[in-house]
Amino acid sequence: MIVVANRLPFVLKQNENGTLSRQSSAGGLVTAMAPIVCDSDGIWVGWAAIPIEPGQEIPEGNPDSSIPGERLKRSQIRPVNIDVDVFDEYYNGCCNTAFWPMFHSMPDRAVFKRENWKSYSLVNRQFAEETARAVSSCDTTKPLLVWIHDYHLTLVPGHLRQMADEGGLRRFKIAFFLHIPFPSWDIFRLFPWDDEILIGMLGCDLIGFHVEGYAENFLECCQKRLGLVVDRERKLVQHDGRTVVVQAFPIGVPFKQFEEMAKCADAETVDPSLKLVLGVDRLDYTKGIIHRVRGFEKLLDTYPEHRESVVLLQVAVPSRTDVQEYQELKDELDREIGRINGRFSTTRWSPIRYIYRFMKQEELCAFYRDASVALVTPIRDGMNLVAKEFVACQMKEPGVLILSPFTGAGETMHEALLVNPLEETGLADTIHRALTMPLDERELRMSALRRRERTYDVHKWVQSFLCATGTVENDDRDSH
Ligand code: UDP
Repeated sequence: MIVVANRLPFVLKQNENGTLSRQSSAGGLVTAMAPIVCDSDGIWVGWAAIPIEPGQEIPEGNPDSSIPGERLKRSQIRPVNIDVDVFDEYYNGCCNTAFWPMFHSMPDRAVFKRENWKSYSLVNRQFAEETARAVSSCDTTKPLLVWIHDYHLTLVPGHLRQMADEGGLRRFKIAFFLHIPFPSWDIFRLFPWDDEILIGMLGCDLIGFHVEGYAENFLECCQKRLGLVVDRERKLVQHDGRTVVVQAFPIGVPFKQFEEMAKCADAETVDPSLKLVLGVDRLDYTKGIIHRVRGFEKLLDTYPEHRESVVLLQVAVPSRTDVQEYQELKDELDREIGRINGRFSTTRWSPIRYIYRFMKQEELCAFYRDASVALVTPIRDGMNLVAKEFVACQMKEPGVLILSPFTGAGETMHEALLVNPLEETGLADTIHRALTMPLDERELRMSALRRRERTYDVHKWVQSFLCATGTVENDDRDSH
């Protein structure tokens, strides 16, 4: 298998003597994909993060490491070197400022600039060329799958297909998975390069989305924008004499790993006399954090019995800090939390604890385990792994998951309390309901949530996707 993703499964650092070293990086994609690339002796194509000078080499992997990204051999890593200015236009300009808001159905926030699209197209071509070189280096006696990931690389399948059709490349399958939502036609059509994105993705044999709704949106866009023949029932599109399969594969988390981490995590995270309400997010406008803290304020207003007995811990991970919109969001959140804490704090209690930094998952797991309530209230989110990680860590007396229906997770985690993240009174009432829910109802809900996430973990997700490409056998074709 060849995995193609924006980033390599580790960060490259330049040492003082000019050599390079690997630093491990966490994240859903690496957790899911690195073990399978290791085990199948596959290849990973990704952005190198720093310019690699001629003569510099990726450091050799460590076969004894427990971290799959570190185990990968040098020959399994194909870095894509991208000019710094081109990268800025591609990544910040196009991916973060056009794709991200558009695909999260927030077109007012999108900025379209032709030069950024040009760089996006250029970088996608570079990725496709590096992938084609990787294809040529693979053993021709074995079937080969190229699995491309996410919105950074929507044009890569089209380029690869063209290279294959024009000859010179062996037979292989092309698959793509989109890790964010796919918007409805009335939003998608606002993208000035909507046709190129669709045609790019249609270079695939299989296109995967988190939930059925995103797959249906994609099919509708193919039909309306490109006039293609679409079988909505069986989720197939006819394009260029081929049939492209479109399917939903809801991603899971490494459930057992989170259970283990929760068992080993620090003993106590909060004052035992307080109930912990937890929010964990990248600081992003899609996550609904401002509405969330205002909803919590409303709770303290409407239900004063929770004052001095509940604390909201909000972990906000710095994200895209060089984009102005994200800096403004940070300023607004700082102000709101300061205002609410100023309003309600007493000499021995403050309602909101706010951590603005990245925390290791080992550290997060202690909070997941000890929280009475997890507040997962994005305005829009492709899946949301935090909701699933919380559930995996809730092994003792269970708490309650509050979840936005506008997340992929909201489509399957039916036993959570669903709430509209934009309506503060509803948020306050739902937090109150969670904080006062009887133990037997909490147990019932949490055990059903845990059963589902344990069964459909991240390994199952990889397995079902590979099975649908026809490159591996699957023992169980269920999907949830
Ligand atoms: N995460 C982390 N440290 C933090 C906060 C979050 O490692 O301080 C991880 C979290 O465990 C989860 C991921 O970041 O795996 C967030 O994924 P999610 O799907 O919830 O949101 P995304 O950031 O991908 O939009």
